[in-house]
Amino acid sequence: MVQIVWFKRDLRSIDHQPLAEAARLGAMMPLYVVEPDYWAGADVSARQWTATAGALAELRARLAALGAPLVVRAGRVVDVLARIDRAVGVSGVFAHQETGNFWSFERDKQVRAFCRARDIALHEYPQSGVVRGLRNRDLWGGLHAAFVNAPQIDEPARLVGLERVKLGEIPDAAALGLAADGCAQPQPGTRRAALDLLGGFFAGRGASYRAGMASPLSGASCCSRLSVPLATGAISIREVLQRAFAERRQAVLSPAATNPIPLGAIDSLIARLHWHCHFMQKLESEPSLEFRAVHRAHEQARRPTPADDPALDAWATGMTGYPFIDACMRSLIATGWLNFRARAMLMSFASYHLGLDWQASGSRLARLFTDYEPGIHWPQVQMQAGATGINTPRIYNPIKQGKDQDKDGIFTRRWVPELAEVPLAYLHEPWLMGGVASYPPPLVEHLSAIRAARARLSDIRGSADYQATAQHVFARHGSRRRTLNNDHPSKFRSTAKARRKTIGTQTTLDL
Ligand SMILES: Cc1cc2nc3c(=O)[nH]c(=O)nc-3n(C[C@H](O)[C@H](O)[C@H](O)COP(=O)(O)OP(=O)(O)OC[C@H]3O[C@@H](n4cnc5c(N)ncnc54)[C@H](O)[C@@H]3O)c2cc1C
Repeated sequence: MVQIVWFKRDLRSIDHQPLAEAARLGAMMPLYVVEPDYWAGADVSARQWTATAGALAELRARLAALGAPLVVRAGRVVDVLARIDRAVGVSGVFAHQETGNFWSFERDKQVRAFCRARDIALHEYPQSGVVRGLRNRDLWGGLHAAFVNAPQIDEPARLVGLERVKLGEIPDAAALGLAADGCAQPQPGTRRAALDLLGGFFAGRGASYRAGMASPLSGASCCSRLSVPLATGAISIREVLQRAFAERRQAVLSPAATNPIPLGAIDSLIARLHWHCHFMQKLESEPSLEFRAVHRAHEQARRPTPADDPALDAWATGMTGYPFIDACMRSLIATGWLNFRARAMLMSFASYHLGLDWQASGSRLARLFTDYEPGIHWPQVQMQAGATGINTPRIYNPIKQGKDQDKDGIFTRRWVPELAEVPLAYLHEPWLMGGVASYPPPLVEHLSAIRAARARLSDIRGSADYQATAQHVFARHGSRRRTLNNDHPSKFRSTAKARRKTIGTQTTLDL
């Protein structure tokens, strides 16, 4: 008989409770199942698999050094488990709870049923501050804090693996049937990469984190870039947070001038790491968020966007005629990463300017993110599309964003080379100088598009029981540190800023 440690989005050996628990019991098999049905989904892509495959290779080497290399099999998890059970007998399956997409949620139900039917003990452990079975958010803050402050789980000193087991190949993206997606070298999702990123951030790279994170140009170097190894699970959110807490303690004790990065940058990172679990909790509590708007009135108002919609395609390929939108999208296609502000702006443009349904645009974005994390992605997609009812809708002005976040035009000219010769004064509005032959005219006119979007929103938000439903949504999903309409990490600053500005710049709708 053997214990199986089933690895999913937790490709590490440190701070891994299932591995530690199984290791105590004797012979075990660390197992990863490549699931073709998952990799055929509309939200996944070659870049995500490439990052995952790198993390698997690293994990295999580490587990081999401990005594039991990772076994890789392809197929449905229940079929793979059944084969192993027939061959050697499975006494227990040890795994982390996964807050994945709806597909993985359903797969986990099958695995639970399978284990029950075969009398195999299934041990599932939390792997972040996300709490399973939570009814509302009242107690979440305390539970989350208890988890992230608890000691990390030590890597087992030694593993006892089964003899003569074929390890199985880690396929490449093509072997898995994933089409090349324009991102030849996605950011690695390994532990080694995570430790390098953490070290570099605290040694000085993060010094301009607060000032630089809003621009895709500066954000690429001053943001932590931890999202990919967090998504593969090569490093735990607890390890990252505890490292940040330790750096903070050190920074508080040292004279400010000697700190490689300011205290404020560390605090901003800690806040965002907190939001990681806050958002994932939403999908954990309501898995249908992937395809159903969290607020009933927004769900009823949805009009599906066909996958071959020309506006969707223009947006997803960086051909909208709005230079900063297209630069952000093309950069994302090539690199697999984008800063938060640009992600929010792309989603806002798709939803408000183009009137696209958030699930169609959200799936296209998901595929482009190497760091695709369903629990962050879908709640963010709905929030930026104005579908939650508990956040003040925010319509980004793509011209203003371009002028603010790419003042010198370096980013836009790099990713939209058709505009390389356009003078800076016209770069973000080339139509004002009569357009450029090789670049499309704007797909929609900014002011009339947002006027139409505001009218659509007013209709929905004016419906009879809108606020009452929003209160229910807030009870279930809202941060207890915020208030209704304010459930957003950057909300306090952005609202105050927007209020100070005159109408016609950035449009924040307080309806
Ligand atoms: C429409 C949309 C979709 C998104 N989809 C994803 C996704 O699939 N995967 C993903 O990891 N992030 C997603 N984000 C959140 C955010 O943009 C990324 O986490 C961040 O840009 C990743 O870069 P970083 O690791 O350098 O972030 P940093 O700014 O260095 O932050 C560190 C970590 O904090 C967490 N974090 C930061 N910002 C947020 C936020 N606003 N909400 C929740 N967690 C946050 C992430 O884990 C991130 O890695 C999305 C945001 C939007 C607007």
